[in-house]
Amino acid sequence: MGIIENLLKKVVLQEATIEEKTKLSSAVYKIRLKSESIAKANFTPGYFLRLEIGIDNEDIAIKDKVRSYSVWDINKTKGYLDVAIATHSTGIGTAWAAQCKSGDKVYFKWKKGNFLVDESADSYLMIGDLSALSHLYMINRSLTKQQQVAGIVYSQAVNELFPDVDGATPFTFYEMPPNPVPEIVEKVKKLVPEMKGRTMVYLAGDSRVCVALNQYFRKELHWSAKQVKTKPFWNPTKKGLE
Ligand SMILES: Cc1cc2nc3c(=O)[nH]c(=O)nc-3n(C[C@H](O)[C@H](O)[C@H](O)COP(=O)(O)OP(=O)(O)OC[C@H]3O[C@@H](n4cnc5c(N)ncnc54)[C@H](O)[C@@H]3O)c2cc1C
Repeated sequence: MGIIENLLKKVVLQEATIEEKTKLSSAVYKIRLKSESIAKANFTPGYFLRLEIGIDNEDIAIKDKVRSYSVWDINKTKGYLDVAIATHSTGIGTAWAAQCKSGDKVYFKWKKGNFLVDESADSYLMIGDLSALSHLYMINRSLTKQQQVAGIVYSQAVNELFPDVDGATPFTFYEMPPNPVPEIVEKVKKLVPEMKGRTMVYLAGDSRVCVALNQYFRKELHWSAKQVKTKPFWNPTKKGLE
């Protein structure tokens, strides 16, 4: 292993062990990571991890080994957290999710970002694809019962979409083609008039959908920047984002 990788492991990154790996659907793995640092984490819903995937593989440059995964659930008492990894992509993230196994060591860094829970609205709309579902679930679970939530979550095969950790399915699942901007806008037009009080939308997943929907909410519906929370998770012409 190189000097930089060694330094990263010892100084910058935190170590965890894969405690459990489960297949949630034909295209998604749930991976449970356990470590002492998770038990001590100062966590806000919406945080994600930067995983150094295959840190010991010297054939890949360090900058190309990082992939981000949202924290879907965390149990600080037991010192574990869960991530849900979609496998529609063709890169190292998908390969790692398919190959990793219980007992493997993982190196990661906490990331806060600003795609966090914001409790200031009365009603929420969550929009995303398979890769964003666990993040949207975490935000939804962090809101109160009085806050109204609707969701448009899609995949090319609807049976790839999975329920939340508590078995709930608070969002409507749709079978849609890739980059389904017109299909989503059609659904948004029906849902927005039903939203009460102060409104907010979370947009995550395919960067093309995030950009187009952000424009739609800002320019067509005249929602303020504070009401439109956007986080592209992947881009068809790039490897890894963040
Ligand atoms: C803040 C943040 C949080 C994230 N959280 C999650 C998460 O919880 N779960 C999760 O699954 N992913 C999540 N992602 C995306 C994740 O980091 C990787 O980008 C993704 O797993 C693809 O990695 P890869 O190495 O397999 O493919 P890459 O090497 O990154 O990409 C190779 C190619 O695959 C294609 N591709 C990438 N992703 C997809 C996709 N979802 N569907 C179709 N084609 C795709 C693109 O054409 C891309 O060029 C998150 C990203 C960010 C920025």
